[in-house]
Amino acid sequence: QAQIICGKTLAAVIDEEVKEAIASLHASFGKTPKLTVVVVGDDPASAIYVNNKVKRCRKVGIESEKLALDANIFQAELTQVIRDLSADPDTHGILLQLPLPNGMNAREILHEIAPEKDVDGFHPLNFGSFMAGSQDALAPCTPQGCLRLLKTVIDDFHGKDATVIGCSNIVGKPMAELLLQQGCSVTSVHHLSHDIEGKVRAADIIVAAAGSPHLVKADWVKPGAVVIDVGINRLRDLGDGKSGIVGDVDFEAVSKVASAITPVPGGVGPLTISYLLVNTVRAFAHQIGASKIEL
Ligand code: NAD
Repeated sequence: QAQIICGKTLAAVIDEEVKEAIASLHASFGKTPKLTVVVVGDDPASAIYVNNKVKRCRKVGIESEKLALDANIFQAELTQVIRDLSADPDTHGILLQLPLPNGMNAREILHEIAPEKDVDGFHPLNFGSFMAGSQDALAPCTPQGCLRLLKTVIDDFHGKDATVIGCSNIVGKPMAELLLQQGCSVTSVHHLSHDIEGKVRAADIIVAAAGSPHLVKADWVKPGAVVIDVGINRLRDLGDGKSGIVGDVDFEAVSKVASAITPVPGGVGPLTISYLLVNTVRAFAHQIGASKIEL
């Protein structure tokens, strides 16, 4: 039976680390980090995510502001809001909650976030330097969280075979890059790949980020592999008539084969927010001229 890697427990540890870093920066510089979350429209899932982020910020001592904008706002107006925040010395991190309402070009607007305040790590300057191996760039949060979860059960990544399912810019692609940086041999698969099962079965480390409920079956998993489940899939019926969230991995069956596995919910999700807090403090430290902080 696999060890269950608990994201909530690890997130609480990281919250403490972040709190300490903020206290020490405040002692030296007399300043507090501030994150502004911009949310456009009234997507119910976004509202939950944004509230969770704001709550976690407050818990660790990051000042946070939610800027809720009307769904009918023009792209030019939203662009101006982002430009103003980028120029505002009291805002150290800017997060534009996605998805944006139809008709808006998220890519164009994300490019307006000042790169040093881009706590999601989506700006091309940050993403490009991260993918080129820079340790200083603000990196996407979810893959950083996955790596931290993996580090609780793996000491040495050198030469391990890793398969990452999904290649989005938000999760799969940066995840593959982080695993390469750790010394793994990485296979990336996506919806056009042949023999996905075979490529997953060869792996010591599996990261599933496809957005496909229960895609990874027990017979896809090599005995002893470590499995990280990023997927968040809302199902109307979990089998007992109740609705809920499931991951990309058939948790019950795969737990009998893997050596360690993350649950959904309570696995990767809490860590994604942890690394939003970490990125905000890193961005803050850089902007106030502090030396690089270890987080
Ligand atoms: P995306 O839709 O942008 O990308 C999905 C990727 O998976 C694509 O590369 C696609 O080719 C691949 N894919 C889709 N179906 C596949 C299949 N059947 N077999 C193999 N590959 C397949 O999604 P995303 O933004 O990368 O998110 C992926 C999942 O992770 C979603 O469920 C999302 O909700 C979840 N997510 C969770 C967190 C978290 O904090 N836990 C954060 C971000 C995303």
